[in-house]
Amino acid sequence: MSVYLYNTKTRSKEEFKPLNEKEVTMYCCGPTVYSYAHIGNLRTYIFEDLIANTLRLHGYKVKHVMNVTDVGHLTSDGDEGEDKMLKAAEQEKKSVMEIAKHYEDTFFRHTSELKLKRPTIVCRATEHIKDMIDFVKDLEDKGFAYFSNGNVYFDTAKFPKYGCLSGQNRDDLKHGARTEQDDNKRNPSDFVLWFTSSKFENQILQWDSPWGRGYPGWHIECSAMSTKYLGERIDIHCGGIDHIPVHHENEIAQSEAKLGHEWVNYWLHMEFLNTKNGKMSKSTGGKTTIDTLKELGYEPMVYKYFTLTSHYRSAAVFSEEALDGAKKAYENLCEYVAEFKANASNGVLDENQASDLESLKAQFNDYLFDDFKTPLAISHIWSVVKDNKKSADLKLAYLMHIDSVLNLNLKSVEAKTEDKIEITPEIEELLEQRKIARAEKNWAKSDEIRDKLLKLGIGVKDLPNKEIELIKL
Ligand code: AMP
Ligand code: ZN
Repeated sequence: MSVYLYNTKTRSKEEFKPLNEKEVTMYCCGPTVYSYAHIGNLRTYIFEDLIANTLRLHGYKVKHVMNVTDVGHLTSDGDEGEDKMLKAAEQEKKSVMEIAKHYEDTFFRHTSELKLKRPTIVCRATEHIKDMIDFVKDLEDKGFAYFSNGNVYFDTAKFPKYGCLSGQNRDDLKHGARTEQDDNKRNPSDFVLWFTSSKFENQILQWDSPWGRGYPGWHIECSAMSTKYLGERIDIHCGGIDHIPVHHENEIAQSEAKLGHEWVNYWLHMEFLNTKNGKMSKSTGGKTTIDTLKELGYEPMVYKYFTLTSHYRSAAVFSEEALDGAKKAYENLCEYVAEFKANASNGVLDENQASDLESLKAQFNDYLFDDFKTPLAISHIWSVVKDNKKSADLKLAYLMHIDSVLNLNLKSVEAKTEDKIEITPEIEELLEQRKIARAEKNWAKSDEIRDKLLKLGIGVKDLPNKEIELIKL
C-alpha cells in the first residue's frame, strides 16, 4: 500500500508521491525557546516524529529539518506584541541566550524522554541571519518587499495567491489589525521581514543589514532555513493548525515569491491538545510539561500512548482521568510484553506463524500508511495481544515490530521473572498423577493432589484442551 496523507493545501487525502524516491524532505516548525514546551506542543512533535517513522517504515529515507526560534517571535503570530525571548529574559533576569539555551536543552531532553528521533538537522534562527538577509534582499530585488519607516515589509498585494492555504482572501487576513495598526504597512495583511525601527529599545539581539541594524521577522527564518537545507521544493511541511492562517501563509508568500514556483507539495497540520477550558497554550498559562506529568506519576511513555489513542487531525482533550486510562493501558501492555518475553521459546516461527506475522505487520502498517490512523493501529495491537490462539513468540515478534515505529519503549521491558515456576521432580510427579486422576474422572484424588500442590505454593488452572496453567502463589 502507498502512503496516503491529508493535504491541507487541497483539503483532501492524497497518495504520497515524493519528489525524489531516494529521500523525502520534511520541514517542521520548531519550538520558540522562551519557555518550556507544554504537552500540547509535544503532541505536535510526537506526530511529526511518527510521520517520519512511518515514511521510513515504508522504505523511504527521510531528511527531517526542524528550526529553533530564538529570535523574532512576537507574542502574537503577526507583528504585534512583545518579543517573546526578551520578555522571558527580563522576567527571569537572564540573558536572551541563556534563556534560549535552557529552554532548547529542556525541549530536547523532553523529546528524547518521549523517544522522538532527533531531526536530521536542527537549525537555530540566530545562526542563519545572513541567509535571512539574503532572502529578504532577493525579495526586495524582485519587487515583493518594501522599506517603510525603518522596517522591511512583504507586500502581499504582489502575491495574488496570498491566503491559499487557509482558503481566505487577503482582505480577511488583516494581521496587525487586531490590536495595533501599523501605519507603515501598505496592506493590512503585509508582514515584517526585517525590523530596524524596533519597538523594543533594549532589543539585545541585533545584526547589521542593508536596511540598518536590526533583526528578522519571525516568518522569514523558516523560508530561509528550509530552502538552505532542503532545496527549492519540499515534499512535506508540518506544524500545528494555529500556524495555517498566519505563519504558513507568510512562509508560502515569501518562498514562492522568491523561488517563482510552488514550494511545498504536502502541508500536514496537527490539531490541538485542549484542556476542558480550551486550547492548551503557553500564552494563557499552559504550563503542563513532561516534568509536571512525571511529578504527578505519569511517565513520558504514558503521555505518548495517550496521544496515539486519538488521530492527529482530531482535537484531544487532556485530563488526569484520561491520562489514568492511558497509564493503565500502557502498563498492561508492558505486562503482556514481560509475560511474552518470559514465555517465548527461541523466537523461531514455523512457516504458518511467519506468514501470520507478516500479515499482522501489514495490517498494522496499513493503518499508519492511511493518514496515520493511530487509534486503529492501537486497537490492532490489543487484538493481537489478547488473542490466545497466537504464541508468545509470534506476539512478541509483532510487538517488537510496532515498537520500531511507535517507540513506546517496549523493547526494553524485561521478561517477567518473579512468577517463573521451577518444576521440581516432586511437582512433575504430582502433575502427572493429577493428569491420570482427571482422565479417570477421579475428582477426589485430583482435588487431593491440587491441595498438595497448593502447599508447595502452586495453583493449577484448567484450560480448554486439557491444558493447564500453573500459578505461583
Ligand atoms: P511554538 O513553540 O509556540 O511555536 O509551538 C510549537 C508547535 O506546537 C507549533 O507547531 C504549534 O502549532 C504547536 N502547538 C501549539 N499549541 C498547541 C496545542 N495546544 N496542541 C498541539 N499543538 C500545539
Ligand atoms: Zn515555520
